[in-house]
Amino acid sequence: MENEKKKFLGIYFECCNVYGRIYENKDKTAYVGRCPKCLRSIKVKIGEGGTNSRFFKAC
Ligand SMILES: [Zn+2]
Repeated sequence: MENEKKKFLGIYFECCNVYGRIYENKDKTAYVGRCPKCLRSIKVKIGEGGTNSRFFKAC
């Protein structure tokens, strides 16, 4: 299931009650993406031991 080309994070968008994916930015400092429904942008920092979980909630 690992994608060696581009890492992504599964995420749950509470705003629209949908699951989606967000992808690493160029610098690999964060996962960035948008809610597929309302296009709200989201950013999840990578590192600091905070991204062990594969799923995050966006609200
Ligand atoms: Zn939304």
